Amino acid sequence: MSEANNLGNHKKPVVFLDRDGTVNVEIGYIHNVNDLVLIPGAAQSIKRLNEASIAAILITNQSGAARNYYPESHIQDLHKRLKHLLAEQGAFLDAIYYCPHLPDGSNPDLTKICSCRKPAPGLIELAYEQNPQLNKEQSFMVGDKEADVGLAANCKMHFVLVKTGYGKETLKTLKKQNSEPDLVASDINQAVDLILKKLSAAAS
Ligand SMILES: [Mg+2]
Ligand SMILES: [Zn+2]
Repeated sequence: MSEANNLGNHKKPVVFLDRDGTVNVEIGYIHNVNDLVLIPGAAQSIKRLNEASIAAILITNQSGAARNYYPESHIQDLHKRLKHLLAEQGAFLDAIYYCPHLPDGSNPDLTKICSCRKPAPGLIELAYEQNPQLNKEQSFMVGDKEADVGLAANCKMHFVLVKTGYGKETLKTLKKQNSEPDLVASDINQAVDLILKKLSAAAS
């Protein structure tokens, strides 16, 4: 009967987004912060999630620092730029989680077998731990690589493969393995369309 009880039940659906090739244009390791460029429509897509009270959380492997291409602070600078580009269009990420590790890196501080490099589920587990308002039953992963596919499977999430970045190559590989994903989208815009449609179908 208490209102507090009702409030406690409002769990948010969540969309976990890969970074390179999904939100920003895939150009390999980004050495210059200004080279990080959004995929057309990415900010507006994330804004649609924001407005629908769906959490948007970035989940990304960033091994450039482990490879000694740049310091770990550069990864944070790239994310500052990403947040700024999104904010310019009124969009925001609820959180950003990245794995800076590599089993065979060059920077000894970041060289290790970790539990957070996709497809390992560590970053998703951390996100749920730190954001208890998230609804695991309504969780989606959007990405362009096999590591993203594997992550979604490991965490029992719906998966949307985008054809941007490495998406087309990934789709070919998955077809050969007879494991084509249920949801394939041309890009993040169409991925968000599919997710919103699925969530509204589940609600009705
Ligand atoms: Mg990617
Ligand atoms: Zn890691």
